[in-house]
Amino acid sequence: MTTKVRFAPSPTGKLHVGNVRTALTNVLHARQTGGVFVLRIDDTDLERSTKAFEDGIRADLTWLGLTWDETFKQSDRFDQYDAAAQKLKDKGLLYPAYETGEELDRKRKIQRAQGKPPVYDRAALNLTEDQKAAYDAEGRKPHWRFKLSGKPVSWNDLIRGETTIETSSLSDPILIREDGSYLYTLPSVVDDIDAGITTIIRGEDHTTNSGAQIEIFLALGGKAPEFGHQALLVGADGGKLSKRLGTLAIEDLRESEGIEPMAILSLLAKIGTSDPIDAYTNIQTLIDQFSFEKFSRAPARFDPEELKRINARVLHQLSYAEVKDRLQAMGADGGEAFWHAVAPNLERLSDARSWHTLIEGPVTPVIEDADYIAAAAANLPAGELTGESWGTWTGVLKEATGRKGKDLFMPLRLALTGEKHGPDMSELLPLIGRDRVLERLSA
Ligand code: GLU
Repeated sequence: MTTKVRFAPSPTGKLHVGNVRTALTNVLHARQTGGVFVLRIDDTDLERSTKAFEDGIRADLTWLGLTWDETFKQSDRFDQYDAAAQKLKDKGLLYPAYETGEELDRKRKIQRAQGKPPVYDRAALNLTEDQKAAYDAEGRKPHWRFKLSGKPVSWNDLIRGETTIETSSLSDPILIREDGSYLYTLPSVVDDIDAGITTIIRGEDHTTNSGAQIEIFLALGGKAPEFGHQALLVGADGGKLSKRLGTLAIEDLRESEGIEPMAILSLLAKIGTSDPIDAYTNIQTLIDQFSFEKFSRAPARFDPEELKRINARVLHQLSYAEVKDRLQAMGADGGEAFWHAVAPNLERLSDARSWHTLIEGPVTPVIEDADYIAAAAANLPAGELTGESWGTWTGVLKEATGRKGKDLFMPLRLALTGEKHGPDMSELLPLIGRDRVLERLSA
């Protein structure tokens, strides 16, 4: 059977590292098994969902290379949800309940005071037809609850192993609100059945949900798929990540932080697994190495500083051909030798801009010892500057001035670049070229 997985974000916000990790795990499993990856847009909440967020999600996934084979939106499928709800009603598994939010709150308070778990008491199941008719006549609108079996539901989770949810300790979940709108639970099951989803991979916060949803799968005549629940991401300090997720939006990492897609994928594929975290430049490696068995059940720590370090290492491995277009777009395409010289100094690609300026100018030379710099200018090797010139030049200067080490090199770097640090001088020298070198030395 072909594996079919789905990633189901709600377009009520930007994609962040937490949901991309779920998307990536789905993609890696699909690609490794020759399966199908579905992007489902969970936009049943018509008020909070926006087209802009939906477009943003698609743009982010595309940028990351996590492209889907099929896609659909829940808002196109209300007829199917209505039909499924009717089916459950006909089976007596979806029942109307009329309690207001306040009444439910009160019940929960009493239960807590008695030391009981705050589970819905199913009072609505005892309503007579007359009582319901009276409520309806009053204009009171019911919400609709799914009647759980009260039995344990077990499955062999791809990540958590043997997992059991005692449905007797859960409230019958509300599937339809008073205003007729659907909560996430039922549409998701209907979609997973209709799309033929074989494997649901999502965050551990959905584990309890899965217990109820498995019963809904069976009630609708479907077969429950396999499940894999991933431990959630936490911050580097072990604290909750959710508050910080706003700043960990993919769009921001791309546009403000200059993070490469493979840096994000490298880190998110490996945190919380037994594999070492490394900088990968090709998603195929991540696909080949993927295994559910490698996932730990402990929360995975996400450290933005680690992302930056991996980003630098990903950048250093990119070839000129891979970055040429982007360098050109930022006006910093100095050719292959330029890329070779500056790549090891980059933390993000946009840093190439300042190195490009450093070669092309304008540069403000820093000259502290004019005599030494004049001697340097006089001793510059003749002819076109090459990769050998720096070695020759500093060799001659050492002889002539008796300087060595930092005293020998640093004034030259400062005069030629205006900076204390930067790319290898032997690579920079031919890029700056003879004319500009002499011009800067005589500034
Ligand atoms: N829209 C749901 C969420 O983002 C999907 C959960 C699921 O994968 O079933 O939490």
